Amino acid sequence: MKLLNRQQLEALSRFQSRKFLTTSFFLDTDKSRLSRKEILVSAKNLVTAGRTQLETLPLDKEGKASLTRDLDRIWETCERNTTSSAQGLAVFSACGEDFWQDVDLPHPPRNRVLFDRNPYIRPLSQILERYQRIGILLVARREARWYSLFMGELAPLDDLTSDVPSKVKEGGFEGTAEKRMGRHAEAHLHEHFKKAAQKTFDLFKAHQFDWLFVGCEDGFFSDIELHRYLLDRLKGRLKARPGDPADKVLKEALDLEHQVKAAAEQDWVKTFVAEIEKGGLAVSGIRDSLRALNEREVQALLVAHSFSAAGTSCPKCRFLYVDDAVCPTCGIPTEARADIVDEGIEAAFRENAAVRHVSPPSRLDHYGRIGALLRYKK
Ligand SMILES: [Zn+2]
Repeated sequence: MKLLNRQQLEALSRFQSRKFLTTSFFLDTDKSRLSRKEILVSAKNLVTAGRTQLETLPLDKEGKASLTRDLDRIWETCERNTTSSAQGLAVFSACGEDFWQDVDLPHPPRNRVLFDRNPYIRPLSQILERYQRIGILLVARREARWYSLFMGELAPLDDLTSDVPSKVKEGGFEGTAEKRMGRHAEAHLHEHFKKAAQKTFDLFKAHQFDWLFVGCEDGFFSDIELHRYLLDRLKGRLKARPGDPADKVLKEALDLEHQVKAAAEQDWVKTFVAEIEKGGLAVSGIRDSLRALNEREVQALLVAHSFSAAGTSCPKCRFLYVDDAVCPTCGIPTEARADIVDEGIEAAFRENAAVRHVSPPSRLDHYGRIGALLRYKK
């Protein structure tokens, strides 16, 4: 299935087996960055690592056999899946319970395989958080059309055609009749915009747009009185018009979405770098970022996409470290973590800190690919 909404995650999170562990598998399959061969090599390495790991688990024969079957089936799926255009693959499997769910992802996940009591869905929720529900309003003199854009898919929502008389010629001498005609047309046009604005608000209430894109003539834009909730969400203007083919609307809207996101990422990095350079409320690099997370000082964690590093964590206080073998707080041995960045992201979520995934290259790369904006000290 395709990853589309939070309900899918909730359904996945409800699965639990008393008897068998669930295998969760995540594979980056972004063919714009990786060749098919590289993707298959990563898949093979993950499956091999999974086989090694399951041997160390305190499970009975049946429990191990179920995980082994999970991994075999996952490998077969990866081999078959090489033509998929999705940028990532997630699989949740517990063969002992006949449970299997493969999910195509619109964004690459971090490669990993893990065994747990239930499906590990956080990477999916992180991907969902990257996407905004975008409402698109296209208005012309007589027509208006609405679309929604979510995870790269454009869906038509509604359209409207109003009876607006044609424009009266501008310039030259205008008689009383022409002026009356002009006012008449203006009134119809005003009514058309009013309907369009109201419809946009109704659709917003039904679909909960995060962002709004509007396509219309410059002259019309100020006449369309959008609700202030919508103005708060207005992120940009499109050249597209109601009569344009959907693929043209999609292409332009995707470009704009990309620009808006890139601008937001740049803003976060800019704020972060400014704080670092003035010695303000920010830390950079994995070591200081983990310390800030442990001390619950993080307001926003910035992470370069796909950055990962090994580390350790304390099983008692859950503090995260780069290389401490013994927890300095509890004095007990720490446990090795394959990806401490991922643990850091989870800790940030627990502390209600924002997590900003930044696409490389960016200035964050010069600061250890991870950093944190800190809360004001009380
Ligand atoms: Zn500890």
